Parts: sequence; C-alpha cells; structure tokens
Amino acid sequence: MDPDFDFIIVGAGSTGTSISYYLRKYGGKVLLIDSKGIATGNTAKSSALIRTHYSNELIAAMGKYSFDVISNFDSIGFSGLHQPGMFFPFDEKYRDTAKENVEMLRGLGIKEVESSSREIEKHFPGISLSGFDYVVFEPLSGYADPVAVSNSYAEAARNSGVVVRVGKEAKRLESGNGKVKIHLNDGSTLTGKKVILATNVWTNKLLENSGVSKNKLFPITASMHSVIYLKRPAKFQGEKPVLWDPPNLAYYKMEGSTLLAAGSLDPEIDKKPVNIEDNLPEAAEYDYIEDYVSRLTDRIPGMGEATVVSSVTGLYDMTPDGQAIISSLDGLGLEGVYACVGLSGHGFKLSPAYGLITSEMVTDVPPERATFDWRKFSPDRFKEGKLITSKYTEIGTIY
Ligand SMILES: Cc1cc2nc3c(=O)[nH]c(=O)nc-3n(C[C@H](O)[C@H](O)[C@H](O)COP(=O)(O)OP(=O)(O)OC[C@H]3O[C@@H](n4cnc5c(N)ncnc54)[C@H](O)[C@@H]3O)c2cc1C
Repeated sequence: MDPDFDFIIVGAGSTGTSISYYLRKYGGKVLLIDSKGIATGNTAKSSALIRTHYSNELIAAMGKYSFDVISNFDSIGFSGLHQPGMFFPFDEKYRDTAKENVEMLRGLGIKEVESSSREIEKHFPGISLSGFDYVVFEPLSGYADPVAVSNSYAEAARNSGVVVRVGKEAKRLESGNGKVKIHLNDGSTLTGKKVILATNVWTNKLLENSGVSKNKLFPITASMHSVIYLKRPAKFQGEKPVLWDPPNLAYYKMEGSTLLAAGSLDPEIDKKPVNIEDNLPEAAEYDYIEDYVSRLTDRIPGMGEATVVSSVTGLYDMTPDGQAIISSLDGLGLEGVYACVGLSGHGFKLSPAYGLITSEMVTDVPPERATFDWRKFSPDRFKEGKLITSKYTEIGTIY
C-alpha cells in the first residue's frame, strides 16, 4: 500500500510549522501533527527576540535570511514584529571580537552601527555603564509574536493543501519497505514516505521508544530558562530598544510600552540538564526572580521601582555547540526519518532558515546547490570535533 502522505512533520512549534510552510510548494501530500496544538510548546514561552548579531558567519547568514522573511511577512501572515532596535554592549574581553564581527556582519549586508554608552544612557537615564566598553546597535532588530508567526506558517501551509492535525502524539516510529509508520497515542497509525521530527526536547524520548539505543541518541539536553515580566516605572515607559547585558549575563526586552522581560544569558544554566519527565515548574522560582531583578537594578537602578507582573519557564533543547541538528536518521536505523531539533534557545528567529534548510534536505536538493549546506548541522560533527563555533565563548545564547 502507498503511504498516506509524502511528508509527515511531527511537532508544530515555530520549527515544524515553518517546515510545513516551505514544503507547501512541493506538490506532494504533506501532514503536520502535534500532540497538543500549534505553538503550544517552547515557542509559546519564547522572548522571540529577532536579531542578526551572531559571531558565526553561517548562522549570521541564516539570521539575515530569516530576518528578511520575518520583516516582509505580509504574504505569509502576521508576525507582530516590533523594531525598536537592540544594543549589544560588550566588555573589554570581547571588544576586538565584537569589532571583527561587525565587519563580518556588514559584509553579509547586515546593518550594524558602532554606538556608544552615551546612546544607551539616552534611553535609560541613570544606567550603570560598567563593563560597557564597545557598543553595537542593530537599528532594525527587535521582537515578534512567536504564536502568531507559527500560526501564520501553518495557516499559509493549510491554504496550499497541507493537512494539519492536532491532538496526535507520535508514540513510536517504525521504518521499512520505503515508508515510515507512526504509531499514535489513540492507537491508530499513519504512514509517510518521509517523516520529519521538529520535536524539540521531546525528540530523544520518541527515538528511544522507536528502538534507538541510548548511546545513539542525539546529544540534546533540556535546560530550564525563565523570563520575568515587570511593569516598568513611568520614567522608563514608551517604546525602547532591547538591551543585552553580557557582563551581567542577562537581557532586557522592552516589550510594548510598559513591560520589561528579563532573561538569562548564563551558559551555566544552559549546561544544567533537567529531566523532562519531572513535573517542571511553569513559572520562575523565587531565587531566580530575586537574582535577575537584582542584575537589572544593578544595571539600571531606576528599575528598582519596577513591579514583577509574571514569569514563564520554558526549555532550551541544548546541543554541545548550541546549534541545531538537521539530519537524516538513516544511521540510527530509521530510514526515511529526518530531524530539525536541538535549537538551543535561539531557534525562533531562525525558523525561516530551518524551514528552508529542512525542506531542501528532504526534497533531495543536492547540498552543494542548497541555500545553506545542511551537512554542517549533522550530528556527526560532535564525534568528529567539527563543532559550529562561536566567538562569544562565555556568554550563553548570543553565539
Ligand atoms: C524562555 C525562552 C526564551 C526564548 N527566547 C528566544 C528569543 O528571544 N529568540 C529566539 O530566537 N529564540 C528564543 N527561544 C528559543 C525558541 O523559542 C525555540 O528555539 C523555538 O521556538 C523552538 O521551536 P520548536 O518548534 O523547535 O519547539 P517547540 O515550540 O517546543 O515545539 C515542539 C512541538 O513538538 C510537539 N511534540 C513533541 N513531541 C511530540 C510527539 N511525540 N508527537 C507529536 N507532537 C510532539 C510539542 O507538543 C511541541 O508543540 C526561547 C526559548 C525559551 C524557552
């Protein structure tokens, strides 16, 4: 019997929905499933910062491609993009590295402005400038709405014939005879010529249930990241740029006109694995709130009058180099299965690039002709020591 679908995408966060959007033009039968709903996983918790400042040229080029898609999103749907600009103030240790990056990024056509602490002060009067030695400003960067973006990808895909089904959990995969069978939570099965996993921190569990031995699972660990939302004091209200604070390993997103979202850049948190089977908290713990509010008020003392409104806690699907795994799973005995996972806490902004790369890979575009060479994202790089490098070695998330 022919498989039910040419492609089945498992997971409808920003990654899976983007893949479904890029595969819509393929002409074959495409299905997108999720155990819960569209953008109900980590995408829903995302700060959704959109920037192009990366220190690795390949990732920066993917950032530029993705930025162009998200800033011209009308033909896809609604992105909720705000572009208040973004400050990256680096300390002395990273001064030369950041300068080199600015040149590299400009070479890719990215708008990078060498700025100054004085410019930051104009937006945040009374700010402490300690450790702000070299300041980069990205005037076009900001943040989008991750739930709207994912729903837009899925809706545009659906309008082109992609089938979307929620409440369908893939329990186990079985491959053979040129097709992949998915055993679902309701006891039914689906078959696809190719199955693509966009299942974030839940990937290894599915692989284990599908017979992949523990020593062959992907090197992905889940780490818990919280974002604290505060109401800004009156003097800091209005549209303001996002402020990265690498010396304090934190970032402050000025959301809308009144909110501030404070998140972490601490690589030690990235390296601290949690068990996804545990009953993990949905909100930030008290000590974490105290710690990050004090980082914020150390930096901007006037924010001492801000009030904590809420917090969210989500998971980063961390890989050893903080970059995605985009690969076929043939080598794991799952012929016809592919994955785009391990996005390591910065995957929302890159979702257009992940959709493009994965769709080219599964439709057999030769890698040398592909827009981005997915072989660089093979998990073999971890064994072969060919990691995707970052020059911001002691700062989490920026890469
Ligand atoms: C707190 C926080 C802040 C962040 N801030 C930023 C940021 O500022 N900028 C940025 O670019 N990125 C950020 N990120 C990262 C970014 O949000 C994620 O990398 C990205 O959204 C992940 O999308 P995803 O689709 O891979 O995963 P998810 O959104 O987690 O989606 C995976 C989906 O797969 C489904 N699924 C899993 N297993 C199965 C199964 N067996 N069967 C069926 N369905 C299944 C789940 O239900 C889920 O819906 C942040 C992340 C967090 C947690």
